[in-house]
Amino acid sequence: MCGIAGYIGDGVAKDYLINALKRLEYRGYDSAGIAVLEKGKEVRCVKKVGKIKELDESLKDEEWKENVGIAHTRWATHGIPSEKNAHPHFDCAGNIYLVHNGIIENYKILKSMLEKEGHIFRSNTDTEVLAHLIEKYFTDNLEEAVLNALKHVEGAYALVIIAKEDPDKIVVAKKSSPMVLGFAEGETFIASDSSALVGYTDKVIYMDDGEMGVITKDDYRILSIEDSSEIEKKPDTIEMDLSDIQKNGFDYFLLKEIFECPEVIRNSTRGRMILEEGLAKLGGLEVLDQNRLRNIERIIIIACGSASYAGMVGEYMLEEYAGIPVEVELGSEFRYRKPILDENTAVLVVSQSGETADSLASLLEAKRKGALTLGIVNVVGSTIARSTDAGVYNHAGPEIAVASTKAFISQMVVFALVTVYLGRMRDMSVVTGKRILAEISKLPDLVDEVLKENDNIRDLAKKYAGYENFLYLGRKDNCPIAYEGALKIKEISYIHAEGYAGGEMKHGPIAMIDENFPCVFIAPKDSVYDKMRSNMEEVKARNGKIIAITTKGNEELSDIVSDTIHIPKTLEMLTPILACIPLYLFAAYVGIEKGLDVDKPRNLAKSVTVE
Ligand code: GLU
Repeated sequence: MCGIAGYIGDGVAKDYLINALKRLEYRGYDSAGIAVLEKGKEVRCVKKVGKIKELDESLKDEEWKENVGIAHTRWATHGIPSEKNAHPHFDCAGNIYLVHNGIIENYKILKSMLEKEGHIFRSNTDTEVLAHLIEKYFTDNLEEAVLNALKHVEGAYALVIIAKEDPDKIVVAKKSSPMVLGFAEGETFIASDSSALVGYTDKVIYMDDGEMGVITKDDYRILSIEDSSEIEKKPDTIEMDLSDIQKNGFDYFLLKEIFECPEVIRNSTRGRMILEEGLAKLGGLEVLDQNRLRNIERIIIIACGSASYAGMVGEYMLEEYAGIPVEVELGSEFRYRKPILDENTAVLVVSQSGETADSLASLLEAKRKGALTLGIVNVVGSTIARSTDAGVYNHAGPEIAVASTKAFISQMVVFALVTVYLGRMRDMSVVTGKRILAEISKLPDLVDEVLKENDNIRDLAKKYAGYENFLYLGRKDNCPIAYEGALKIKEISYIHAEGYAGGEMKHGPIAMIDENFPCVFIAPKDSVYDKMRSNMEEVKARNGKIIAITTKGNEELSDIVSDTIHIPKTLEMLTPILACIPLYLFAAYVGIEKGLDVDKPRNLAKSVTVE
């Protein structure tokens, strides 16, 4: 999910590799490493936790003249950020070294098989199995070993591999994680995105899924991983502007991250759904005595900001489908209350960074009182992740924009998986489990469909950017999305907004409605749609303008609303995941229209590590 680089050619590998890692720094990472190779010598490998500057510094005292090498910035998914878990990873013989972006789904099975065969593992990563698996098949030809190994691998990977005993080449392979090759006279550069190649070459080949590359100093071959057949691919010439590339062509990280949501959902669910049995497979919860989970009688979800709204979405899911009573508490409140906890209460902390001070303090308080503690955290090895008894990582990748979007989406997706996991231990039938998982697996395509509303939403943002107040309304599953939508427009566009449960409108906010106070309704065709429609009539009767988010095909609102955004149909419990996307785009474009830096809103910090 983070950065990879490789080099083979006449130049000094280390120079390009370190530069490439620096170029990839913007993606966020927790550790970095490099390995270089010279014929007839041992591979040299250095890894460091923290900044690339430190890795670079640590290389200063030695001469690094090797012409072949690989490097990596890691965003941990399996195993905490540490030197031992940092890439490159290598086999028992110290022959094969590799770097990997992505997740190996079936690493546990492969690891136990390889351990039985005598392989010794040094790290807790999923990646290391690849080094040992390739070792198992290696005789003297690296690409053959890689082809054989990859037949057994499930998951996502961009891989760059070298072997001491086949030293004149680099082998690369790609499935679901990005990879690009750059060609210059007598040199080939490899990277996970083209920002690393700027200034080195403009001749590139973007690798496609299922392809393997065998690269020597002055030649390359692309093969199909499935049947080893040759694939004809010629380099394209591209125009490269560094900042454009880093933002993947978007003007802001915020937009890039919103558009990454389909991929984020794939990553959050990869290897975690057994569709045919209606079961969720969450390794992070399997470490617990399953009876402890089965005996949970109450869950208290603790979170701050957006994460607390994801918690509310989770509350609806867990109560309705897993039958467990749930309360959502703000970290800043819980820590100073007198919490009533017993051995059958689980405290579940939700935090993108895993460092949120108030949530952490609450977690420690709950631990002190003996509650079972669980986490839904994005940053692997963060303090909250380490302090809980068990948990589930989001796998949303690093989030650069300060306002959370893709991490929030992944939190809701993980809640859906946790609901199936805990529900199937209780009353949830296999049929219901299957239905939920089948719908979850459609979400990436459905989110893609919502993203096609981009131009429509940008136009709406232009139309509404001049207003100074907004009211966001939603009910049931989408009530928290009204809160989240209002929060987002406050954060990104500095516009005052209130998020309310639809039924609460008449208890106060209706007093504010007039033609200058637009209302955003989250009103998919669900079990509370008619109630939302009545709310719309009430707003309309007071000359309020209405923007409605509703289900595709629902045209009957046209006489009351000013503007409509459509989302596809899905299970009611999953509609928040789709409804959120237009609200994010709307907030982003309103902010952009107002000339604001939507990546870095004033006064806000990405990770709130103070009270
Ligand atoms: N899953 C691998 C790990 O945790 C790779 C992570 C990445 O893409 O940086 O080490």
